[in-house]
Amino acid sequence: MRRSSPTHFDTPQEEPVPTTVKAYAATSPTAPLTPTTVELRDVGPHDVRIDVRYCGICHSDIHTARGEWGATAYPVVLGHEITGVVAEVGPEVTRFRVGDRVGVGCLVDSCRECRYCRRGDEQFCTEGYVETYSSTGRDGRPTQGGYAEGIVVTEDFVLRIPDGLALDVAAPLLCAGVTAWSPLRHWGAGPGTRVAVVGLGGLGHVAVQLGSALGAEVTVLSQSLKKQEDGLRLGATHYAATSAPDTFARLAASFDLVLNTVSASVDVDALLSLLAVDGTLVNLGIPEHPQSLDVLSLLMRRVSYAASNIGGIRETQEVLDFCAGHGIAALVETIAADRLDEAFDRVVASDVRYRFVLDTATLA
Ligand code: NAP
Ligand code: ZN
Ligand code: ZN
Repeated sequence: MRRSSPTHFDTPQEEPVPTTVKAYAATSPTAPLTPTTVELRDVGPHDVRIDVRYCGICHSDIHTARGEWGATAYPVVLGHEITGVVAEVGPEVTRFRVGDRVGVGCLVDSCRECRYCRRGDEQFCTEGYVETYSSTGRDGRPTQGGYAEGIVVTEDFVLRIPDGLALDVAAPLLCAGVTAWSPLRHWGAGPGTRVAVVGLGGLGHVAVQLGSALGAEVTVLSQSLKKQEDGLRLGATHYAATSAPDTFARLAASFDLVLNTVSASVDVDALLSLLAVDGTLVNLGIPEHPQSLDVLSLLMRRVSYAASNIGGIRETQEVLDFCAGHGIAALVETIAADRLDEAFDRVVASDVRYRFVLDTATLA
C-alpha cells in the first residue's frame, strides 16, 4: 500500500492525502482481470480503514464481471468476502481499534432509518442498500470491493472476526456464510427438519455445515457423486446425484426445505417435486436468465417457492460467531492475483473445493 503522507496530521490546515492501494479490476465482460489502483476515500469520523488480507471469490463476482446480470459499470474491483486488519479509525469510531481482525461482506451502507434498517435487516433497506462494489456510495463515488489491498467502510458495516477463525477461512462466511444462514434460520432449519442443499459449491458447502450444526437432517443434491465423501464429512447424512435417473422419484415429497445454490438455470418443477406438504424451495442462485414454473407444482402439496438475498449485518455477525463456536469454516484454496481468471473459469466449471480465496499480499 502506498501512502504519501503520515496518517496523523500536525495541523488542521493540512489536507489529507489519499491512500492508494493496488487492486485487480474487471474492465469488460471478456477481458482478463487487470492490475489497477484504487484511491480510497479519506477516513471520515465514523470510518474504518482496513488492510485487506483475503477476499473470497463468490460466483456473484463472476456474474458481475461477465455482465450476466445486465450492464456492469466497468472498471469494477470485485470482492465482497473480505477479511483483514484495521489500519486506521476515524475519531468517532467506538467499536474498533487499529489491529482488530475484521470483515466486510456484501453491504457497506444503508439509510439506517427505515423499518428494515432499524431492525437490522439492511438487505431490505427501502432506500436501497449500498453494495460493496458496483454501487454508488453515500458520498456519490462508485464502491470498489475487496480484490484490493485496502478498503474504507463505515464502522456500523464492519464485522468482527472471532478469535477461533483464521482470516482466510473466515472470508467466505461474509457472503456465502450469511446467504446460507439467513434462510436456514428464517425457515426454521433444526432438529426434525429435512433440508436438501442443491449444488455443493461455495454457498452449498457452508449451507451443509450450518444446516447440520443446527440439527437438521441434510441431503446434498449434486450433479454427480464426485464430491460425496466431502459432503458427508461436512455433515450431510445423504447424498444423491441429480443426474441419476431415479433420484427425483426416490426423493419425491421428502424435504421441508430445499436450498437451491445452483448458479445456472434449473428445472424448478423438478426441485419443487422434492418438497413435502408445506415445504419451501428457496432459490439462492441468481442465474442469468429468468426461470419459470408450473403452478401445479405448488398447489398439490401447498408448497412455496421463495428466494433469499444475503443477510443483514446482525445476521452476518451471528453466523461468524456461530461458526467460531461450532468449529465451522469454509474449505478454501488460496490463490495469487495472477490466477484470478483461471479461478473464475474453474468456478464456472464447478471445479472448486470449495471456495477460492485471493491472498491480497500477491497484489503487491
Ligand atoms: P459456486 O461455488 O459456483 O457453486 C454453485 C454450484 O452449483 C456448483 O458447485 C455446482 O455444484 C452447481 N452447478 C453449477 N452449474 C450447474 C449447472 N449448470 N447445473 C447444475 N448444477 C450446477 O457458486 P456460489 O458462489 O456458491 O454461488 C451460487 C449462486 O448463488 C450464484 O448464482 C451466485 O451469484 C448466487 N449468490 C446468491 C446470493 C444471494 O444473496 N441469494 C449470495 C451469493 C451468491 P455441484 O458440482 O455440486 O453440482
Ligand atoms: Zn457473494
Ligand atoms: Zn434503510
